[in-house]
Amino acid sequence: CGIVGYVGHQQALDVVLDGLRRLEYRGYDSAGVAVITADGLAVERKAGRLANLEAELVGQEGFVGTAGMGHTRWATHGAPVDRNSHPHRDVSGKVAVVHNGIIENFHALRVELEADGVEFSSDTDTETVAHLVAREYDGDLPETVRKVCRRLEGAFTLVVTHADEPDMIVAARRSSPLVVGIGDKEMFLASDVSAFIEHTRDAVELGQDQVVTIARSGYEVTDFYGEPAPTNHFQVNWDL
Ligand code: GLU
Repeated sequence: CGIVGYVGHQQALDVVLDGLRRLEYRGYDSAGVAVITADGLAVERKAGRLANLEAELVGQEGFVGTAGMGHTRWATHGAPVDRNSHPHRDVSGKVAVVHNGIIENFHALRVELEADGVEFSSDTDTETVAHLVAREYDGDLPETVRKVCRRLEGAFTLVVTHADEPDMIVAARRSSPLVVGIGDKEMFLASDVSAFIEHTRDAVELGQDQVVTIARSGYEVTDFYGEPAPTNHFQVNWDL
């Protein structure tokens, strides 16, 4: 339902929770966050209001890091319970994925992954993407995400983090919205500009079947085959 991503110099957890708060008006049934820390990915997710997630985070000290992402879920596959809340991880816990939309061919992908010995921990369509990214990853996260997207059917906005790539976040979209916010040595991702307009009004809207990689220094957009892709750069001019 709502997606936020951040790479910059501020604590990612604060920026992400704040962005999720600004997306609450869209309605949701669960929420979750992931932060890339010095010790790998820190993930927390919780069914119910954002306040439930925030209560769960009180006193947890592991969420230190300047790159991260968050999600509010509107369940389509799997009940709105903690274990179906996003982010979803692969078996190693190094890959985390948040997703808006529906992966139509998730069942076939799940059967294929299970035949490979992968054990699933949720009932979602989304979890297949975390396992596919982990299986395909060869040191190049943007290329891995493109490869995985080429296998997906349906409508999706995906945001992917990998513990071995602490300085980047990769996102993709097909028939579901995704915007990039350009700051000063910080970059934002969101399903809706309202998630980041208190930080920047300089925005880029992704087109159909595109992948974006954000880092502190900038962003790069390609199609699902790695070719540079045109985007719509605009200024958000509404009042806060
Ligand atoms: N299909 C996914 C799920 O049910 C994502 C739903 C959403 O867009 O929030 O978990």
